[in-house]
Amino acid sequence: MSNSTLEQYCSHLFELFQPVGALENGGVTRLGYSDVEDEMHRIFQSEARALGLSIQVDEAGNCFASNTEGDAYLIGSHLDSVVEGGRYDGVAGVIAGLLTARLAREEGVKLPLRIAAWRCEESSRFGCATIGSGLVTGHLNGADIAGLKDKEGRSVQEVFQAKGFSLHPARIQHVKQYLELHIEQGKVLESKQLTAGIVTGIVAPHRWMVRIEGMAEHSGATPMDLREDALAAASELILAIEDIGRREEDSVATVGIIHNEPNVMNVIPGVTEIGVDLRSLKQEHLEHMDELLEEAMKRISEERHVTITRTLRSKGTPVQLDKTVEDGLMAAAEKLGIPAQYMPSGAGHDAMEFPDLCPTGMVFIPCEKGISHNRLEKASLADVCKGAEVLYTYLKGEEKC
Ligand SMILES: [Zn+2]
Repeated sequence: MSNSTLEQYCSHLFELFQPVGALENGGVTRLGYSDVEDEMHRIFQSEARALGLSIQVDEAGNCFASNTEGDAYLIGSHLDSVVEGGRYDGVAGVIAGLLTARLAREEGVKLPLRIAAWRCEESSRFGCATIGSGLVTGHLNGADIAGLKDKEGRSVQEVFQAKGFSLHPARIQHVKQYLELHIEQGKVLESKQLTAGIVTGIVAPHRWMVRIEGMAEHSGATPMDLREDALAAASELILAIEDIGRREEDSVATVGIIHNEPNVMNVIPGVTEIGVDLRSLKQEHLEHMDELLEEAMKRISEERHVTITRTLRSKGTPVQLDKTVEDGLMAAAEKLGIPAQYMPSGAGHDAMEFPDLCPTGMVFIPCEKGISHNRLEKASLADVCKGAEVLYTYLKGEEKC
């Protein structure tokens, strides 16, 4: 199948999805389990049928298009978006699945395939991510999320009931491997002029609120050597945290929140609180960064005569993808002459629900300037096609056809 034919088909699919949930500012809002997301799924189903695939919808509302009833390679992503999001996050991966099925059909290659369109991957509506894939893989417990409410006050349970879905769906079966194509949502690939990223794992955060207590005093009457300045101590700690992120392998560290009291011009800050987000691909690095944070807190509190305490906000677990699948995807990219590198994913994806069920792999493609979760999000259709060809070439190798 020629590149231009594949790209035309890819463009046709994007155009069909284009108007769904469209906003005047150019973005889209397609919240999970909304009527807008239903419309995305209807389009997916009708295009999959046109490819000769059969449709199944599971009890959680996830939609599958298959060329077999038996075990299959599952290629999936999501069709929902954040509020005022872009048109490529998730959709590119579902389209890549359809492109793979089309390539196999055109070339008469017998690949057992199932394309998944997951529900509600984004946490934008209910504050909980990967609801569709999390429920059917058993990682999310329906009872735990039933009471979560959206902005309108509608609970997950109400929405599921209204749509005829179940919060306790049967577990997904017949998955040989899980593969997902996704836009990178960062600028590593673009900056290195690469077309594909082979994802090695999905990083997880440890999040802390750190409270620095000094003494609020008169900014004119208190000499420099008698101060207990909470904000100055926080400043030193923020730079120490940046350094921790720089030094730790496969890791990043960010202070994204700062509250300062009393926050007025003529008073030395008495209390400063910062929000710390530590992320890594490896559990041991996360734990090491936790220790380094504690050491920095201790050192700065002694030097500056302030009290520094921390409270854990949340702890995630990093997910490793399958090394054999990664190497197979990299070999496929090399065979196609597509420049690629191994890289971690800094964002969560449906793929993180699968490594304990089956071998799992992910391919990233570049997105313009790394912009995502934004109406300006953009990826090239040629790159979506190239990513799909990596998946297809890899799977042909797996099936020896
Ligand atoms: Zn996504």
